[in-house]
Amino acid sequence: METFEVRTGGRTALHEITAQVEAAVERSGVREGVAVVYCPHTTAAVTINENADPTVARDFLMLVDRTVPRRDDYRHAEGNSDAHIKSILVGADRSIPVREGRLVLGAWQGVFLCEFDGPRTRRLHVKVIEG
Ligand code: ZN
Repeated sequence: METFEVRTGGRTALHEITAQVEAAVERSGVREGVAVVYCPHTTAAVTINENADPTVARDFLMLVDRTVPRRDDYRHAEGNSDAHIKSILVGADRSIPVREGRLVLGAWQGVFLCEFDGPRTRRLHVKVIEG
């Protein structure tokens, strides 16, 4: 398993990590299989979406912030309940097929770390399974 870190900027942000995941796949030597990208944090997440037009990420964050407001009738004393909820909704991991040693992604797809309580340094794990 490979691990890398991303220093995030802003409280909520999407950071593309496709290149780091591709590099982990390459180093694994696996030609056919699946890459599991996993984020071991409770206020961040991993997703796959458009990497060509940055307004897609901006629109996503706008809607997520509107849907799960920062302040509400939360009980969690840390003051970041919205970030935990956003992390639960998006999810901690994604599985991506690997073919001929490369991630199988659509022309406009990229892999993103979703930061919901930044800025922080986040860890990402990539496990490449042959098969
Ligand atoms: Zn918390």
